Amino acid sequence: MGVEKKYFYNAKTHRLHIKGCCRFSESLPYNTVFFDTYDDALAYDGRSVGLCKICKKKADGEHRQ
Ligand SMILES: [Zn+2]
Repeated sequence: MGVEKKYFYNAKTHRLHIKGCCRFSESLPYNTVFFDTYDDALAYDGRSVGLCKICKKKADGEHRQ
């Protein structure tokens, strides 16, 4: 399917970002973990995972076509 690791999770702030969706996903801190999918991130840190508001907005926009 050609899936890339496009999710960036900051384990320190518990914030999940999508590559290229916001400025935070461009300058990555040390505590960043990479995931292929949102589900993978959830599996890693469960309910602690919070998708970045900016990234979420972008992702929603892409789903809606
Ligand atoms: Zn973000």
